Amino acid sequence: MRLIFEKSQPGRRGGELPRPDVPPAEVPADLRRSRPPRLPELAEPEILRHFTELSTRNFGIDTGFYPLGSCTMKYNPRVNERLVMLPGFRDLHPYQDEDGSQGALELMWRLQEALIEISGLHACSLQPAAGSQGELTGLMLMRAYFADRGEADQRDTIVTADTAHGTNPASVTMAGYKLAKVETDARGNVDVAHLREMVNERTAGLMLTNPSTLGLFDEHIEEIATIFHEVGALLYYDGANLNAVCGISRPGDMGFDIVHINLHKTFSQPHGGGGPGGGPIVVRETLEPYLPGPAVTKVGDAYRLDHDRPKSIGKVRGYTGPFGVFVRSYAYIRSYGPGLREMSETAVLNANYLLARLKDAYDLPFDRLCMHEFVLSARSLKREHGISALDVAKRLMDYGFHPPTIYFPLVVPEALMIEPTETEAKETLDAFVDAMIAIAREAEDDPEVIKGAPHGRPVRRLDEVKAAKRAVVKYGFEDHVGLAGDPAEPRQLEAQKGA
Ligand SMILES: *Cc1c(COP(=O)(O)O)cnc(C)c1O
Repeated sequence: MRLIFEKSQPGRRGGELPRPDVPPAEVPADLRRSRPPRLPELAEPEILRHFTELSTRNFGIDTGFYPLGSCTMKYNPRVNERLVMLPGFRDLHPYQDEDGSQGALELMWRLQEALIEISGLHACSLQPAAGSQGELTGLMLMRAYFADRGEADQRDTIVTADTAHGTNPASVTMAGYKLAKVETDARGNVDVAHLREMVNERTAGLMLTNPSTLGLFDEHIEEIATIFHEVGALLYYDGANLNAVCGISRPGDMGFDIVHINLHKTFSQPHGGGGPGGGPIVVRETLEPYLPGPAVTKVGDAYRLDHDRPKSIGKVRGYTGPFGVFVRSYAYIRSYGPGLREMSETAVLNANYLLARLKDAYDLPFDRLCMHEFVLSARSLKREHGISALDVAKRLMDYGFHPPTIYFPLVVPEALMIEPTETEAKETLDAFVDAMIAIAREAEDDPEVIKGAPHGRPVRRLDEVKAAKRAVVKYGFEDHVGLAGDPAEPRQLEAQKGA
């Protein structure tokens, strides 16, 4: 496929605007550009076809099953897009005063209340823009809390699990804490004996997701919470896996003090291309004074932004947070009403259905009932037929499925981490099982067809080492658009394609 710049023909135009019937505004000479912008010149149908064709090369939740573990790629109800586009929401300016934005503030307040109830805690800030930013914010809250108690210097370590998402250790380091990693035991729980050895008065807290990235609910979570609380430390709940437990169990009841909620995962949001997301945090009463401001409060019948927070760690995001994300997530929660539990129960049921049907064809490192996701291993396929988790993932594309997450969590070799979510029909799950089983059979009968996969996608296998170490992400179109550029191997990406 050619770039739109390569399709450009000098003088070609789409629609023409009528000549203005008012005098043109005088743009000061020093603000005027000296050359016209170098834009592609095409007729309107060519532009439309160009972008429509490009869009067909994308894989998204709207084109097929997307069982990307840990990412909760559920269907995004179209009605929520309509709600975001309501003029009262869409046209609101961030500087609109409080009296003129009561509806938006009410929605934010109601969302806060829903998240507080779902997490079993006390106060909420909608500010953080993603789970990872929620983590950093939560750790800053911990520091502020300990500083207030004169313990900030004494407490310098945060414990994470060896199954943790990469953002956990990154946030801990960014927040200036030392990292201690607790191991996973043979049943896939946190190794409590190991934990006891590492927790002491220098510990500031724990950061844990439950269910874990293995899709397993920790059977000792209350004991773990006690170990930390006994030394005065705090527990942070990485809420990325909340889709497993909504309305069933609450992080606050498990003993956690701070929670982030990935709105884009649990409460639907078109995501996967880098946002927009939302990572509100919810905290216990003792931590409320430190929350980022402004908080949305209800005073009588009115909704207000409360800036009067002397102990607040300050703002962590511009304005009041990602508002469109709030609208969609609030709508998603309300569409279930008091039956939100059904969302999680269906997600868990779907995952266990897949697990039961796949566990004979692949290795299952932890043979337990799973929560909303589970982790298989391609260990035997690799040993016996030379087929790796990566090979399985690539071959799945030929069967029309987005691959699961692979090589994560790190404690499982050749990991395939599968999360179906609650929005998939049984027929879709069955088709995915059929594809996975067919691939396991191909590994025996025709391993070469897997190693050469994908065969039917626009891009085949890239040289992954080269792509990571010497990434050239621009296409060789300097000649067409006259961009001065580094001439080094402009067509490398092309050359890296398998076909
Ligand atoms: C997605 C995820 C995160 C990070 O959340 P973002 O919203 O992507 O920043 C943290 N932990 C786990 C377990 C996750 O799956």
